[in-house]
Amino acid sequence: MAQVELNGKIVECLRGDITRQDDMEAVVNAANAQLMPGGGVAGAIHSAAGPGLVAECRPMAPIRPGEAVLTGAHDLPNRFVIHCLGPVYGVDEPSDHWLAECYRNALELADSKGIASVAFPAISTGAFGYPLESAAEIALATVRQVLPGLENVTRVRFVLFGASDEQVFSSRLLSTIE
Ligand code: ADP
Repeated sequence: MAQVELNGKIVECLRGDITRQDDMEAVVNAANAQLMPGGGVAGAIHSAAGPGLVAECRPMAPIRPGEAVLTGAHDLPNRFVIHCLGPVYGVDEPSDHWLAECYRNALELADSKGIASVAFPAISTGAFGYPLESAAEIALATVRQVLPGLENVTRVRFVLFGASDEQVFSSRLLSTIE
């Protein structure tokens, strides 16, 4: 677990499950283009949210790499889900640009809806094959760049599924403030 304060706003990294972030107003889904259940984060989010989420998502699909869309959270313990389509590494090029766009668009969308807290998984680092170190660098640099300009978002959390993933994000977070 690592936490830093940036201009009065909190950025933190912890190990956990994105479907169990009860204290966060919005959680981010590492979605597929069709916004449907699948493996990884999308599977976990849809199974915790229940069938109402699939129904709400259907008319919004497909989405493009880098895009973020908002739905209700249904049976999840949050108010909203922000669905982002990360780039498939080495296919949706330039991947670093599209990955940064996911974080930027998700944060700007949250802010425009008055959302104060957003929890992200490590988008694209599972089935989409993005190397974790580079994904962490892009994720944290983008949050650091975008967060100071937002009015409503005051807390951003990265929820990492594995201990080593949490280590990589936490050390990168701490090194960005030096
Ligand atoms: P993508 O298709 O964008 O790569 P995945 O869902 O396959 O998305 O994986 C993204 C990351 O989320 C991976 O590092 C994976 O280990 C992690 N992950 C999988 N399930 C969960 C969960 N329930 N909570 C948080 N992170 C998860």
